[in-house]
Amino acid sequence: MGNYSGMVRSIDKLGRVVLPAEMKRELGLENEMKVEFHFANDSIIIKKYHEHCMFCDSEKDLVEYKYKKQEDNDKDPDRKVYICKNCLSEITDLK
Ligand SMILES: [Zn+2]
Repeated sequence: MGNYSGMVRSIDKLGRVVLPAEMKRELGLENEMKVEFHFANDSIIIKKYHEHCMFCDSEKDLVEYKYKKQEDNDKDPDRKVYICKNCLSEITDLK
């Protein structure tokens, strides 16, 4: 992986930051793809978004679960939730 730390970008008037092209290329990110934000040690980490099981984080054998909006002010109403077939069968066994 290339060493691109410390690249400086400005936040524009609307709060947007352009991701450095070199970093996007390194992660295989293309425009319109989803990214995931994490907050850690006063830093924002941007990760390539992978659909994953809401219970075990697995990315295999995912089934889309109908996401129900939790609150009226939910900022991401089209968020989708996934459950892997493994967890799904464990849940189904709970009776
Ligand atoms: Zn799972």
